[in-house]
Amino acid sequence: MKLKEIYEQTEPVISFEVFPPKDDSNGEKLKKLMKELEILKHYNPSLVSVTYGAGGSTRDKSEEIVCRVKNELKITPMPHFTCVSTSRETIKNYLQAMEKAGVENILALRGDMPKDGTICHDFLHASDLIEFIKRESSLSVAAAGYPEGHIETESLEKDIEYLKLKTDKGAEVIYTQLFFENDKYFKFVEKCRNAGIDEPVVPGILPVTSSKQLAKMTSLCRVTIPEDFLCAIEKHCDDSDYVKKCGIEFAVKQCSELINHGVTGLHFYTLNKSSAVSEIISSIFPERVN
Ligand code: FAD
Repeated sequence: MKLKEIYEQTEPVISFEVFPPKDDSNGEKLKKLMKELEILKHYNPSLVSVTYGAGGSTRDKSEEIVCRVKNELKITPMPHFTCVSTSRETIKNYLQAMEKAGVENILALRGDMPKDGTICHDFLHASDLIEFIKRESSLSVAAAGYPEGHIETESLEKDIEYLKLKTDKGAEVIYTQLFFENDKYFKFVEKCRNAGIDEPVVPGILPVTSSKQLAKMTSLCRVTIPEDFLCAIEKHCDDSDYVKKCGIEFAVKQCSELINHGVTGLHFYTLNKSSAVSEIISSIFPERVN
C-alpha cells in the first residue's frame, strides 16, 4: 500500500522503525529481530520502516529485512535511503531493485555528513534525492522533519523552508525526529501549515528504556528532555526496571496527548525491541491488539 492511502485511514496509523543489526555474522540478531517484529505485528502496524547505514554500509541487510517484512510478515515496508555519499548510478540501481522487489514507499534522506568529509557531489540535500526518485521511479516518498530544528540549521524557520522544498519535490509524508515535549511538535506543525506544508507530519516516538540509550540518542540530535523526566531517569540510572517503567509511563502520556490532538499516526523508534512499544500501544489502544 502506498503512503497516501495508508495515511487516509480514519484510525491513527501505527508504524515501527527497525535497523539492521550490527556484528551479526551468524545471523542470530536478525533472527531475533524477526521474532520481535512478529510480536509487534499483533498491534496492527500499517508500516515498518528499515534504516539505511550512511554510505550504504548496511545496504544488503536493509534490503533483506525490507523483503522479509513484506513477504514473511505481510506488512508494508518502507526502506530508508541516504544520498550524501552515494552516486546517481548506485541510487538508480537501488530504486530499480526496490521496485522489482515490490516495494512501494521510500524514506528519502541526505544522511549525516561523513566524519572524514568525503561526500559524493551528485546529491547534496534530501530534496535533490526526492526529485530524482520521483523522476526515476513510481515510489511514494517520505521525508524527515525536525520539530526542534535539524542539528546543522541556523533556524527552525530556515529548516522548515527546506522541508517545504522537500514536499514541493514530492514528499508525501513527513516523519519527525524523536522529541519529548509535545508543545514543540504542535508549534512545529503549526509553522509547517503556515509555510504551506499540508502533508501528514507523523510524530516519532522513542520509548526510553535506559539512561545510556537516552544519552546516546539525544547526543545525536537537537532535542529537549523535560527536566523532571531527565532527573527521574538519572536518579535511578542503576535501576533498569524503574527506568523502563518511567520511560513507558512517559511515552503513554505523550502518545495519549498526541492522539487527543488528532495526529494521523505514531511512528515508534523500536530500537529492535518489542516489549516497551507493546506495553505503550496496549495501554493507549487496547482494542487494537489482536
Ligand atoms: P536534508 O533535508 O538535506 O537537511 C539537512 C540539513 O541541510 C538541514 O540543516 C537543512 O536545513 C539543510 N538543507 C536542506 N535542504 C537544503 C538546501 N537545498 N540548501 C541548503 N541547506 C539545505 N540517517 C541515516 O544515516 N540512516 C537512516 O536510515 C536515517 N533515518 C532517519 C529517519 C528519520 C525519521 C529521521 C528524522 C532521521 C533519519 N536519519 C537517518 C538521520 C538523517 O540522515 C540526518 O538527520 C541528516 O543529517 C539529515 O538528513 P535529511 O534528510 O533531513 O537532510
